[in-house]
Amino acid sequence: MNPQALQILRSTFGYEQFRAPQAEVIDTLLHGQDALVLMPTGGGKSLCYQIPAMARAGTGIVVSPLIALMQDQVVALKQAGVSAAFLNSSLSLSEARDVEQQLIQGKLDLLYVAPERLLMERMLDLLGRIEIALFAIDEAHCVSQWGHDFRPEYIQLSILQARFPGVPRIALTATADEPTRREIITRLGLQQARVFISSFDRPNIRYRIAQNPGGAREQLLRFIREEHAGDAGIVYCLSRKRVDEVAAWLAAQGLSALPYHAGLDNHVRAKHQARFLNEEGVIMVATIAFGMGIDKPNVRFVAHLSLPKSVEAYYQETGRAGRDGLPSDAWMIYGLQDVITLRQMLESSESDDAHKRVERHKLDAMLGLCELTTCRRQALLAYFSETLEQPCGNCDTCLSPPETWDASLPAQKALSCVHRTGQRFGVNYLIDVLLGKDDERIQRFGHDAISTFGIGRDLSTPEWRGIYRQLIARGLLTIDLEGHGALRLSDACRPILRGEESLWLRRELKPSRSKKTKSARGSASPFTDERDQHLWEALRTLRRQLAEKQSVPPYVVFHDATLAEMVAVRPQTLGEFAHISGVGERKLAAYGEAFLAVIREVLGAL
Ligand code: ADP
Ligand code: ZN
Repeated sequence: MNPQALQILRSTFGYEQFRAPQAEVIDTLLHGQDALVLMPTGGGKSLCYQIPAMARAGTGIVVSPLIALMQDQVVALKQAGVSAAFLNSSLSLSEARDVEQQLIQGKLDLLYVAPERLLMERMLDLLGRIEIALFAIDEAHCVSQWGHDFRPEYIQLSILQARFPGVPRIALTATADEPTRREIITRLGLQQARVFISSFDRPNIRYRIAQNPGGAREQLLRFIREEHAGDAGIVYCLSRKRVDEVAAWLAAQGLSALPYHAGLDNHVRAKHQARFLNEEGVIMVATIAFGMGIDKPNVRFVAHLSLPKSVEAYYQETGRAGRDGLPSDAWMIYGLQDVITLRQMLESSESDDAHKRVERHKLDAMLGLCELTTCRRQALLAYFSETLEQPCGNCDTCLSPPETWDASLPAQKALSCVHRTGQRFGVNYLIDVLLGKDDERIQRFGHDAISTFGIGRDLSTPEWRGIYRQLIARGLLTIDLEGHGALRLSDACRPILRGEESLWLRRELKPSRSKKTKSARGSASPFTDERDQHLWEALRTLRRQLAEKQSVPPYVVFHDATLAEMVAVRPQTLGEFAHISGVGERKLAAYGEAFLAVIREVLGAL
């Protein structure tokens, strides 16, 4: 390993060791070779180009698609004492000129640039006149025309190779799939690059998916209160209306929750996003419009009140939790209605058949993940062609294995009821028939005289809903195209209907008695010991004050993990303080005394 790189890791960033494969990636660039790095969110991609940019002569040029991301990175680098700047449309003309001057004078180790600006002839000329350490292309999946983050300017980045031969290039992404990888290689001309693929597992995220027997909001509130009081989190909802409603309701319950969706004014959205980043413990209730480019490290939970359309979307959205590696929750609740809505949206969409087939396949995979009775992480990783040998022990099905039961007979009744009523009715009606309800509509259609009338009295309405949900999720029943929610039999259900195959279903938990899986961490106050708790709060207060004074988010002063280590170690001297992970030379000098004073004060008072 390169000794200079290790020296920078320790003195500037305050970390003891490289994570795999950081050291090798850095070596590759230091040898002037190209690299492609595929690593999950929170894996530690930034250091892969930041350290070689500092170690090599000249400036490292980082292409980044989002202004917010650039600003965040530059603020964090400056905190660590690195000379970094960005060039994008948020700067005034004179500010931009200033940055260019620093660049020409060779004063910058790192310069972040938006792709469209990099490609301007003036900028390329400028770069021709200075020494360049490397080019880093962050969020490299933006070159993919098939991905949802496609940025046309990214394709033109291929000119860097021709214009600056000999300058090593590194492309980085957290998008795992094979087609995207191939596209990055061809479009960016990275055929010679060494490829580094990390596991996409996020072991600190606890996956939990529960059925919704009604009262989703209340369950969300209970989850936040019991397990994440005071924590920052994101709550995803399908529609804008639902976002507004849930945000207002949570706020009325005394939580600091804000709405975020494309229907809000730009300045309102910007304000809410800034509060989410800069304050502690803000809950963002959002549509999927929110999230890309949010790299707040201490998002402790991501909650879904509606089902994502695909496993990819689920992985990406839940992946915004726990970038700092501390325990975090991915919590989701879903019910029969979600399944019906998504199936209907898909079938009634304008897209062509081939497209629909792909989408149907994706949704099936997502529903499969939801209905699973084995380890969710194994299934999630398998979806990305990765094998996890053992069940993870950190998902709901591992922690409290669901009971299954032989539902063949009730399934036959449910399917047969669809058949007898002519495949024209929705779930509520079908359940009423099964329960033998005294109902005017049932009588009008003569369904009080069919053989399935009243044969389902042994089960309750919620139990029947659970059965129908699972039958739909498994594709044994389909939903009509006209959008009235009528259920139809699919070919796949015949063997069950005929009694040739048995069907085992997940036993639904009664909401009131639902077993609580123990919290991933507790909450923002991770300490059980009262003195530790006290110290933790005092350190957080100091961090917030220091951050406010400089108008930066608290986490760029120190991460939660660094504060937690201070509580555990209780350093007494600057020498001891320097050993805490995340304390580099600049932060030691800038903040060491202040934190030591708080530690002494709190411990002295106890
Ligand atoms: P990514 O860009 O891959 O999502 P980051 O580069 O933001 O991830 O890193 C995620 C977190 O891990 C950051 O808090 C970073 O400081 C931390 N980190 C990265 N490398 C190391 C290391 N070698 N030791 C300790 N912490 C690290
Ligand atoms: Zn598991």
